[in-house]
Amino acid sequence: MGTKFVYMDNNATTPLHPEVKSIIKESVDIFGNPSSLHSCGRLASEHVEKAREKIASFIGAEHEEIIFVGSGSEANNTVLSIFLCSSKIRGHDWSNGKDIITTRIEHPCVLETSKCLRSRGVNVFYLDVDKFGKINLEQLKDMLTTKTRLVSIMMANNEIGTIQDIKSIADVVHENSGALFHTDAVQAVGKIPVDVKELGVDFLTLSGHKMYGPKGIGALYAKKGVEFCPFIRGGQQEKGRRAGTENTLGIIALGKAIEMRAKEMEEEHIRLKGFKDILKNSLEQKIADIHFNGHPDDSLSSTLNVSFDGVEGEAVLLYLDLEGIAVSTGSACASGSLNPSHVLLATGVSAERAHGSIRVSLGRENTKEELGYVIEIFQKVIAKVRGMSTAYSKRRE
Ligand SMILES: *Cc1c(COP(=O)(O)O)cnc(C)c1O
Repeated sequence: MGTKFVYMDNNATTPLHPEVKSIIKESVDIFGNPSSLHSCGRLASEHVEKAREKIASFIGAEHEEIIFVGSGSEANNTVLSIFLCSSKIRGHDWSNGKDIITTRIEHPCVLETSKCLRSRGVNVFYLDVDKFGKINLEQLKDMLTTKTRLVSIMMANNEIGTIQDIKSIADVVHENSGALFHTDAVQAVGKIPVDVKELGVDFLTLSGHKMYGPKGIGALYAKKGVEFCPFIRGGQQEKGRRAGTENTLGIIALGKAIEMRAKEMEEEHIRLKGFKDILKNSLEQKIADIHFNGHPDDSLSSTLNVSFDGVEGEAVLLYLDLEGIAVSTGSACASGSLNPSHVLLATGVSAERAHGSIRVSLGRENTKEELGYVIEIFQKVIAKVRGMSTAYSKRRE
């Protein structure tokens, strides 16, 4: 016990890619301020721009459409908060309405921001999802009005892995309203193909630490010419769209992380899909009374969300941890609180079943050998936790 360590919580965060580690080590002395005109500043600026090019080309954007920000959360806050700008700024006129449409399964950084906007007079409407976590295009169509200014719908869900048809959603938004469309693609970029022009999105969010880059660096795609309002004001960095001296080292590392995604993504997708199938089938065979959450097909190959009847997810997590296996209950942000996952509840899962759910999220470092161990330990731990639950043993009698 304690010798093995199997990390299967990659939707919470990922370990640095070895190439990312190397470039961080190589780049620590690039200390110049990218805004400085001397050679030291210009060197830093060149590295920042090189990274911007890599990110832009990976998602089919132009380099000036990429804005570096401090996190995925900041990018999402920025987009949702463009309505807080004075309607006079840059000639925008929000006076015709500032309604926002989003979903019930967004990341807390979207849901909490929309709650805050509500208290400042912005109307926010929430789309439902079906039992697989998919939104309904007809409901979206019905919700759109002339007052709708922004629609924000995540591409891949961090808890259950469900992937939305973003291209169709963006089409519906643009064909039926003058609203801007944003997608939180933090869990999608680097896992599935993402091309902003093909998808037809106006804004897109990505984050470094979900794709083997460092924490505290993210990027926002903002389509050329689209209405914008900086969330952080000050200097003219990022063409006046995000003030603050650039996180040069983080940006360089994000550029490398994306470069490696471009090389490894496709093969990894196939490998992890195989792993997920093995995990799913084996758990289903070996453990009674289990239910899988999320979409059976339109789902990240790396994400498996499963509910076990008669257990508390937290207990399972802690016993797995004692055996060296790192997974998550619901979402990292929700753990520590006893609220059942808002995502599972939105898909119609009962609070009781949501409490018994575990998220296994695979990543590039996972091996086939680990799967056997994980399946064995899951069997042991579920039996143990169920054995402690009088309610469950009664039910089984
Ligand atoms: C992790 C995550 C975020 C937040 O990104 P940070 O860089 O950690 O702020 C936003 N949306 C989704 C879907 C995420 O998984």
